Amino acid sequence: MDRPSDCQISGGLRGAQQRRSHVRTGLLAAVCLTAVVAGCAGPAGPAAPKAAPAKADSAPVAEAPAAPAVEAGAAPGAAEAVDRGAARPPAAPPLLPGLARKEEETSSEAVARKEATVRSALETAQRWGLEQPPLKAPPRPATRAQLTPVQGVKLADGRPPVVYRVPTDDKVVFLTVDDGAEKDPEFSRMAEELGIPLSAFVSDYLVRENYGYFRGMHAQGVEINNHTINHRNLKVLDYETQRQEICSQQDQLEQQIGVRPRLFRPPYGEYNDDTLRAAASCGVQAVPLWNEEAFPDHMEWRYDDRKLHPGDIILTHFRGTDIWKASMPDLLRKVVNDVTAAGFSLGRLDDYL
Ligand SMILES: [Zn+2]
Repeated sequence: MDRPSDCQISGGLRGAQQRRSHVRTGLLAAVCLTAVVAGCAGPAGPAAPKAAPAKADSAPVAEAPAAPAVEAGAAPGAAEAVDRGAARPPAAPPLLPGLARKEEETSSEAVARKEATVRSALETAQRWGLEQPPLKAPPRPATRAQLTPVQGVKLADGRPPVVYRVPTDDKVVFLTVDDGAEKDPEFSRMAEELGIPLSAFVSDYLVRENYGYFRGMHAQGVEINNHTINHRNLKVLDYETQRQEICSQQDQLEQQIGVRPRLFRPPYGEYNDDTLRAAASCGVQAVPLWNEEAFPDHMEWRYDDRKLHPGDIILTHFRGTDIWKASMPDLLRKVVNDVTAAGFSLGRLDDYL
């Protein structure tokens, strides 16, 4: 594990100053956003540039909507991710005169609800030090797509698919958190309040003393998946030992969490054909790996273009200040800020694989 350099630490301090500056920008955006929601026709302020038409893989920052809309009808006070690209509904046909007033009232109530939801999302984002609220993920796919051997997907008969990148055109990426050593209540609270979907891959030897933390995360919507019993390099083990490492963890998670995992990730991303056969034998349906690894102060990239792609899987770890010199909320703040600035939302990996 690399330790952060002094430069990186001072960079973190600069980041804090920048965050404060961004919070001010966010407030300006909130004012402009209120005007947008209310349908005001005033000139656009400097903090609300015109959004470019959505284009895949281009100018990601400009693509991020300057004035995100939030779904109406959200529970008051609930932390809602912001719906990217949500268009205003088409104008209703003219009403009979007697109905016009009723329609106005309904409309102003809807505007007020939207404003309250936007304010709530901004307040939640600011409370956690985010530059802007996270973008809302696209609707959950009705069915999980049949995977084909495209880039980022490896298929073999009778084996679960190995996936580095989920095939999708949506500007959505997936955050996965491995191992389970650090069990930070602030991290799970932050993810829940911001509505950030996560998938966890835990090793029994690191979590067996406190499965309760992961039961709590599961109750808030985080899938708890298989990362073996002892976190060994499976490639150097025979089939039966690999099967023990994987399948005993399937049983353990079913007993402790109440759900038998569908997803399994081999430690270090190291696997061979025995790994996939063993995983298939105890109910594993997919083996997600990753294209990026997130740290509290930087991202490591698999590809030279050093940018996110639709469907990318991001790896990070349950680690804390002892290793990172930063907390898990610091890590999540960095990831969400980077993902949002690139015009992406975070989705639930388990809905796609
Ligand atoms: Zn691991």
